[in-house]
Amino acid sequence: MPPPLPVVRTVAELRAQVAAWRRAGERVGFVPTMGALHEGHLSLVRLALERAQRVVVSIFVNPTQFGPNEDFDAYPRAEARDVELLAQAGAHLVFAPGAAEMYPEGFSTTVSVAGVTEPLDGAARPGHFTGVATVVTKLLLQCGPDVAVFGEKDYQQLQVIRRLVRDLDIPVEIVGGPTARAQDGLALSSRNAYLSAQERPVAGQLNAILRTAAGRLRSGEPVAAVEADAVRALTEAGFRKVDYVEVRAAGDLARLGPGPIEAPARILAAAHIGRTRLIDNLAV
Ligand code: AMP
Repeated sequence: MPPPLPVVRTVAELRAQVAAWRRAGERVGFVPTMGALHEGHLSLVRLALERAQRVVVSIFVNPTQFGPNEDFDAYPRAEARDVELLAQAGAHLVFAPGAAEMYPEGFSTTVSVAGVTEPLDGAARPGHFTGVATVVTKLLLQCGPDVAVFGEKDYQQLQVIRRLVRDLDIPVEIVGGPTARAQDGLALSSRNAYLSAQERPVAGQLNAILRTAAGRLRSGEPVAAVEADAVRALTEAGFRKVDYVEVRAAGDLARLGPGPIEAPARILAAAHIGRTRLIDNLAV
């Protein structure tokens, strides 16, 4: 039996614990999440444990990163189970604030990152990255970790966070963790719980189609044709709507020319099956 894992709900308690660890000379790692944890989140906790003696995990379903017609109310919440999984994984503290602790009466400040937030999910989900940037800035300042770990599953988000940490001189090392996947390649996601038995095999095609596309790009085929074929393949596989399939520069997500790729790139996609929106990406 792992030792019981403390759950705190206030910034003051979080800061007191982190300060005590600091005084003892311990490095602190941090993994922000929205809960409904799966193996992808737990792999980030293990990565954090390799880089710090103490690991804090936050669980907060951040309302400001959901659009008005998105799934904030339906988003799965399973705190008791999450805490159990985190105890088994070896985390040391859970920070699970309520909305009033994060956004008290009169809250008026947002962090908005230009450039890297604009294409892809930034275009498909207006305001999403301002919500993400604001809450992640708050969480990093609340916790004050030495290192914070984020998943490559949300690749654009990872680049947004790297940018804001650099721009605002937040003293933390940002580490990206590889995407944890199901057997058929589907990226693990709390939202996979929405998929019906009929939709689940279709969902796996997102990764298969991106793998095919990445292979073609590596063998020198032109970006424009590979993107267009992937969109077609997703539609034929049964995706209701494709928000984007785009090949972009790996670092700043700048647009590439239509021809063969010449530098490290990333292929990123977002597509809907039924009421579920899935994202995935691969290095090229
Ligand atoms: P979320 O709870 O979805 O906000 O995700 C919390 C953190 O876990 C983010 O840094 C995500 O990128 C990361 N994450 C989510 N799914 C995966 C996955 N399948 N593999 C690795 N990291 C993930």
